[in-house]
Formats: sequence, C-alpha cells, structure tokens
Amino acid sequence: MQRYFVRASDVDQQKQSVTITGEDVGHIVKVMRFSPGDRIICCDGTGNCYMTAIQEIRRDQVNCRLMEKIHDDRELPVHVTIAQGLPKGDKMDLIVQKGTELGARALIPFTSSRTIVQLDEKKQAKRIERWNKIAKEASEQSHRSIVPEISGVLSWKQLLKIADQFDLALLAFEGERVTTLYSYLQNLKGNLKILVIVGPEGGFSEEEAAEAGAAGFKSVMLGNRILRTETAALYALSCISYQFEQIKFIVGKN
Ligand code: SAH
Repeated sequence: MQRYFVRASDVDQQKQSVTITGEDVGHIVKVMRFSPGDRIICCDGTGNCYMTAIQEIRRDQVNCRLMEKIHDDRELPVHVTIAQGLPKGDKMDLIVQKGTELGARALIPFTSSRTIVQLDEKKQAKRIERWNKIAKEASEQSHRSIVPEISGVLSWKQLLKIADQFDLALLAFEGERVTTLYSYLQNLKGNLKILVIVGPEGGFSEEEAAEAGAAGFKSVMLGNRILRTETAALYALSCISYQFEQIKFIVGKN
C-alpha cells in the first residue's frame, strides 16, 4: 500500500484527520490517480503510521481520515548512524537511498583530509535538501516508519567529538587487518546506538586513524577487500541487518 510521510503536526488526533501538502499531493492525484475513499498509509516521521482513507482532494492539499494505527515495525532493532566522508559527484545520492533501504537511522556527511569535493554553504544547503528528499522517498518505498535524518556537513574535528553520544562508535578503516565488525556485533543487544564512520574515496590517513582511536572509535575491517566508499556503508548496514534480523531475529522497537 502506498505510504506518505507527513509532519507530526499534520496529524490531528482530535479530529482524527491527516493533511497532506507539498509534492505528495501531485503524486497522489497525478501519479497514483487516487480518489476519495481510497486508502493510503500516512506516517508522522516519528515512528507512528496510520491506515487512512482519502476524504477530500483539493488543488494543494489532500485530507484523509485516520482509521487505525499500524503496528508493522520494519525498523532495524539497533540505531545505526553512518558518518560518510563526502564522496565525489552524486555518489552520496546512492548512499542515502540504499542506506535508507537498509535501515540507517541517520547519515552524517563529513569532510576529512582526503575529501576532494568542496561545497560552499549554498550548495551544501541544496544538497542536504536533496538528500532529505531522497531519504523520504526511499523510506516510503521501503515501508519504513521513520525517515533517516541527514545532518549538515561536519568537519573531522566535529565528528570526533560525537563518539560519546553512541553506545558503539566504529571507524571502518581500510588499514585494519585484524579486528572484524563482527567482533563488536556478536555480543550486542538490540536497541543500542551505533555510529560507523566511512572514509571518502582516498580513505583515512594513519594520523586520522590514530585520532579516531584516541577519540574512542574502534577500527574495524569490512571483509578482506578494499571497498569503494559507496560500497562500505552499505556493507556495514547489511552486516548489521544480518546480525539482528537474520541470525538473532529481534523485532525492533521504535
Ligand atoms: N583509497 C583507499 C581506500 C579507501 S576506501 C585505499 O586505496 O586504501 C573508502 C573507505 O571505505 C575507507 O576509508 C573505509 O572507511 C571504507 N573501507 C573500504 N574497504 C574497507 C575495508 N576492507 N575495511 C574497512 N573499511 C573499508
């Protein structure tokens, strides 16, 4: 069933109604050709999703009646944030889309010594808007109940400071040949917050790896081969899904 993300403030519990505005209106009317009476799922972005019936279609707004809350949790049972070294071109679009499908809770783009792209403030704001849109559409497509948050671009120094906000802070380091991602995942319980840092195309310098270690990040290897930056985040997310949704199947709690 088609689902749309609205703002939490667009859901009126008292009136038992949801208001959809913006580009989704065109999607509902022109792409899906829905009409009053048709059912769609509306999610408020904070984990609540509702079965609704379209009541009224206006030029710039669709009003729906709340029918029932849906309890169909598709979220990963662990909160995974990917800090991604800004890649060249439109590779970040792919990472945001696939990372969302694979269950990432948040993505943090960052710059480090080997970052090639330079984004001025205006370009950065446009990119973040675009990535948020990609994340929203990918969440709808993959039946998620939240849209991952894409933060502003952090510097390497800023990124190193956030390790203590997570239960486990990992550095995917191409120079790591001993410690596996699995060695950290195997004893983890669900519902924890994990941060995985992935470097840009040029990877990390030994100095950066040492700085990350001093800041509390644990270096891990992602298999025996060197992956492209856009593959690395998706590999890590796939491993985490395998650990918590295949080996030890835990139904996630938002
Ligand atoms: N240019 C570097 C590779 C960078 S790969 C080189 O030739 O060595 C880009 C990023 O993907 C890395 O910084 C790391 O975060 C991640 N990555 C790729 N392969 C990895 C692996 N086998 N183990 C851990 N991280 C890896």
